[in-house]
Amino acid sequence: MNIKKVVVIGSGTMGSGIAAQLCNANIPVTLLDLKTETSEKAKKKILESRPPLLVDKSKIDNIEVGNINDNFDLVGKADWVVEAVVERIDVKHKLYEKISKVRKPNSIISSNTSTIPLKILSEKMSDRDKKDFCITHFFNPVRYMGLLEIVSEEINDIEKINFLKFFCEENLGKGVIICKDTPGFLGNRVGVYAMQVAMTEAIKMKLNIEEADAVFGRPMGIPKTGIFGLYDLIGIDLMSDVLKSFLKELPKSDVFHEVAQEIPLVKNLIENGYTGRKGKGGFYRMNKKDGKKVLEAINLTTKDYSPSKKIDLNIGEKINLKELVSKNDKYGEYAWSVISKIILYASSLVPNVTKDYNNIDEAMRLGFNWTKGPFEMLEELGVKFFVEKDNQLKTNKFIKELYDKKAKTFYGQRQIYTNLETLGKVKQSAKINKDNKSAFTYEYKDYKIIEFNTKANTLDYDSMDALKKASDKNMIIINEGMQFSAGVNLNYVMDFAKEKNWKAIEKFIHHFQMTCKQLKYSNNIVVSAPSGLALGGGFEVLIQSDYVVAHTNIVTGLVETLVGLIPAGGGTTNMLCRWMQTQEAKKDSDFAPQKVFDIIGYGKTASSPIEAIPFKFLLEKDKSIMNRNKLLSVSQDLINNNKDGYKPPKKAIFKLSGSQVREKMFQTLENLFREKKILEHGMEVGKKLAFVLSGGNTNIDKELSEDDMYALELEAFVQLIQMEKTQARIKHTLSTGKPLVN
Ligand code: NAD
Repeated sequence: MNIKKVVVIGSGTMGSGIAAQLCNANIPVTLLDLKTETSEKAKKKILESRPPLLVDKSKIDNIEVGNINDNFDLVGKADWVVEAVVERIDVKHKLYEKISKVRKPNSIISSNTSTIPLKILSEKMSDRDKKDFCITHFFNPVRYMGLLEIVSEEINDIEKINFLKFFCEENLGKGVIICKDTPGFLGNRVGVYAMQVAMTEAIKMKLNIEEADAVFGRPMGIPKTGIFGLYDLIGIDLMSDVLKSFLKELPKSDVFHEVAQEIPLVKNLIENGYTGRKGKGGFYRMNKKDGKKVLEAINLTTKDYSPSKKIDLNIGEKINLKELVSKNDKYGEYAWSVISKIILYASSLVPNVTKDYNNIDEAMRLGFNWTKGPFEMLEELGVKFFVEKDNQLKTNKFIKELYDKKAKTFYGQRQIYTNLETLGKVKQSAKINKDNKSAFTYEYKDYKIIEFNTKANTLDYDSMDALKKASDKNMIIINEGMQFSAGVNLNYVMDFAKEKNWKAIEKFIHHFQMTCKQLKYSNNIVVSAPSGLALGGGFEVLIQSDYVVAHTNIVTGLVETLVGLIPAGGGTTNMLCRWMQTQEAKKDSDFAPQKVFDIIGYGKTASSPIEAIPFKFLLEKDKSIMNRNKLLSVSQDLINNNKDGYKPPKKAIFKLSGSQVREKMFQTLENLFREKKILEHGMEVGKKLAFVLSGGNTNIDKELSEDDMYALELEAFVQLIQMEKTQARIKHTLSTGKPLVN
């Protein structure tokens, strides 16, 4: 069987997300709705979506649109029909009846429902239709969320289900978990329970919402939206509908009932249009005061809003669950209460909801972006510690059995849902070196793997040390976190800046340059396999690797100018090097520096490997991979296929026109300043960048080496970091996540 044509019915949030992902996989898809106008609008929304749903906007015409009255014959041409209409059983039943009449024999029909059981969806179908019908539960936004739950029944043709699983892994890049037909399947059953526990415990313990979000967030390896922020993001009204459905479907004995009862404050918010970010606001809201935007947080008791406060939990940056739950204050108490309840609930689902506890963890990692699922949390805490910490804890059969075994570890394999050789799996058998505080080094087969492990994988002196030490062998730089690397650790740089320790900054940047240079020119192959952000310093690691095996969801580029700096880890030099190879550059020596001046000056980024190529952030030899789980094996293949006879690249020579091209760049800056597109400091940063890209005090007859260029980068960086306005930009970005224009 093969899937060459897909019809998606319902062009709302999910239908259009699914259609866009099929389009990303180059599979022709038709999007139908009640009216063509609606699916036409959905197509426009796909093009304008932020973050973008398409990896390549020029492919939009892979999506054809129509309506279910005039164009239903197209359903008869599809190998797979995905139903993603409103969550109403009468509407869905009517549609299935219609599909049954025209569908291609053997085609797959699936529903994207999140709450209706498969047996109810298919109750009116013939056995022939039931055999080919299942639930394919995608998560929003479809391009970015890794999880796809496929729910099947005994009657299903298992080969077809396995084929669909393979197709969705291979083509749509999803982590596919086969689930039983139980309420909320795995992801939402545990994820929504976790959200409700986090909310109800916060209310019970009288924590304010910023406090709860600060704990039920990064310190637990959970996205920083926390609980109340996540509620606002999903939609408070939508969550209320989801809870009603759980209450209807789950037996009264299920402890889900204890945490899913209607909360008066929530009801009140919905009634007053405070449905979250899509409404007037929710638990948080943006308010304008004296012409300035202020983020406000609700007081759970008085219902009043006041400016949101930053909470300092006084713990390290690294996730340490034992430390967190052992804290002798209300935060430790809250963390313990929430984590223990989630672990107990997840354990209660084994084996009836799933026999594989591992799949629950994966569902939480792929569907909710948790770093660790409940069972990995339990492994980290230790079963003995968990059971003995609280004698009030009502342990269940699963936990009791683990406790009685007295085993130090129980977890076993990770990612059993896929046959691919992933980093998660390899880690367990590789020789691991944990001496470095910013990166793990694994020795595996005949190469080394570097995994950065700081917050957002920002880079510091130690990260560079790890890379340098590993460069004695072929190397793959890859990680399991959300981001490959958000760039140089600005907090680390600012700590030196506060002490005016410019020498330390200079030493760090020089170390960065020399390490990356070593990666580029060593006799070993270096493959970087990024997913998520690969910005600034993160991108500088990529550009100095021999190959990049990029996940389709990368965001990459050089953004240093936005914080008042210039790329000085070899990024400016190597971008120039790439653009110097073009035909235009061969005719005009000022072409490459000017082009790179624009790309770096504007802090341009690409949000897919395809978008990265025109900037030369990536080259044709690099790979673009839909399924993140494949990054490691594709990187290994690249090493194996290229290691014999591998020769490092030739050293670059730069012939630049110095003040001649610099004048042209200054002219550009003058124009931007006049048009008020940049302010004084933008001008200053631009000038420093121009100085480096023009080769400094040189002329077209002189030859500059890469080291000369590095020296220019370094000098500009050290000068800029000493400027107050650069430091103001960095501080602003660190505290708000946004750039400051000054
Ligand atoms: P939505 O309200 O955004 O879109 C539903 C679309 O279906 C609308 O465009 C509507 O015009 C169309 N529609 C209604 N009746 C139709 C019919 N008879 N024929 C064709 N089109 C019809 O809904 P959504 O959020 O995209 O949800 C769709 C499905 O996906 C639901 O079953 C929902 O439970 C499920 N789901 C939603 C999410 C989410 O986060 N929104 C996540 C996972 C699953």
